[in-house]
Amino acid sequence: MLMSMPTSPVHIIGAGPGGLATAGALADLGIRAVVLDKADDVGASWRGHYDRLRLHTTRRWSSLPGLPIPRSAGRWVRRDDFVRYLETYARHHRLDLAAGVEVSRVDRPGPDDEWVLHANGGRKLRASAVVVATGFNHTPRVPDWPGRETYTGELLHAARYRDPGPFEDRDVLVVGVGNTGAEIAADLAFGGAGRVRLAVRTVPHILRRSTLGWPSQASAIACRRLPAGLVDRLARPVERLLPDLTPYGLPRARTGLYSRVREGAIPVLDAGLVRGVRKRRIEPVGAVVSFDGDAVTLADGATVRPDVVIAATGYRRGLEPLVGHLGVLDGRGRPLVHGRETHPAAPGLFFTGYTNPISGMLRELARDAPKIATAITRRL
Ligand SMILES: Cc1cc2nc3c(=O)[nH]c(=O)nc-3n(C[C@H](O)[C@H](O)[C@H](O)COP(=O)(O)OP(=O)(O)OC[C@H]3O[C@@H](n4cnc5c(N)ncnc54)[C@H](O)[C@@H]3O)c2cc1C
Repeated sequence: MLMSMPTSPVHIIGAGPGGLATAGALADLGIRAVVLDKADDVGASWRGHYDRLRLHTTRRWSSLPGLPIPRSAGRWVRRDDFVRYLETYARHHRLDLAAGVEVSRVDRPGPDDEWVLHANGGRKLRASAVVVATGFNHTPRVPDWPGRETYTGELLHAARYRDPGPFEDRDVLVVGVGNTGAEIAADLAFGGAGRVRLAVRTVPHILRRSTLGWPSQASAIACRRLPAGLVDRLARPVERLLPDLTPYGLPRARTGLYSRVREGAIPVLDAGLVRGVRKRRIEPVGAVVSFDGDAVTLADGATVRPDVVIAATGYRRGLEPLVGHLGVLDGRGRPLVHGRETHPAAPGLFFTGYTNPISGMLRELARDAPKIATAITRRL
């Protein structure tokens, strides 16, 4: 049964940094919002990330509106400190969190009606406006490699990796050299794995996290509105601050750094990859092509037989069941509008956190939040 109120609250789906930031910004404007999350507490994604993870964006540019991350967390904040911060953030803004509520579909019965959220237990929640903040990294994606289903070794997605302990003395193939794959490979290489290979499809752009105290993120923020060709040229000498890994099987990227970002590939900020490759503790190998029994075939025709394959092959947005029927997604399943904008077919439905900006996702979530809050205030 639908419970009707004179004005239903704003509902935010997702109590990660994006949802919390928007709820915090709404609270600052005196607007009541209910934050729904399928998990038991805030920051569920962060609780699940691997143990050695530190933010690769600076503390200052990772803070959400209205409450800085404390200085005691250091410049590169640890995973656990970031989770504590999110808990404190929710308390500080007295956010109304409804935990254990999984929204399966968002609907608007008629053009002048309020939004209706269908949630677990048959619940239907009315909302005056809805903010979807279910995360860019929502559903782990493992490519549909031929033979994958009958592979006899162990295959897991990077989302399930926590620490090198279970991989001691084992032969591991990490697939994918984004930030996650690079960092997991380094964690394994220096954490006791027997052998670590890293399957590389497209050679990455690798940057230092900071140089003489100047964070790469600051350069990314400064350059993000410049033409891609210019940034590509400016980035080249910066990339050369790191040693050439060609003799170790990982050539320098020949594409432009920022041109790749525009295609969706964020550069790798070195957190042990370069050292691991130079010490030959991480062996770059060709991309995975297929599986056959216990064997993995690589793009150069080689066959390897690792004990474990860790697929650091990204995530899908997973928005189709939730909002796909509203005509607000593009062909890749990403929202057609973002931040303060709403789609003409879905007024009052907002999205945050579905871009992958070079300037840092947390920074962009924090910047979007007050804009979304203001747009909602105007609507209400
Ligand atoms: C390993 C890793 C490291 C990263 N490091 C950085 C970094 O250093 N700096 C940076 O700027 N960015 C970083 N990012 C990117 C980004 O900042 C994070 O992914 C961030 O958590 C995004 O916040 P979010 O709120 O959009 O999504 P999430 O944190 O993923 O939160 C989404 C929430 O929605 C909930 N949810 C999902 N579906 C539903 C549903 N149907 N109903 C109810 N609840 C639902 C989930 O339980 C979750 O709590 C990193 C990403 C990853 C994967």
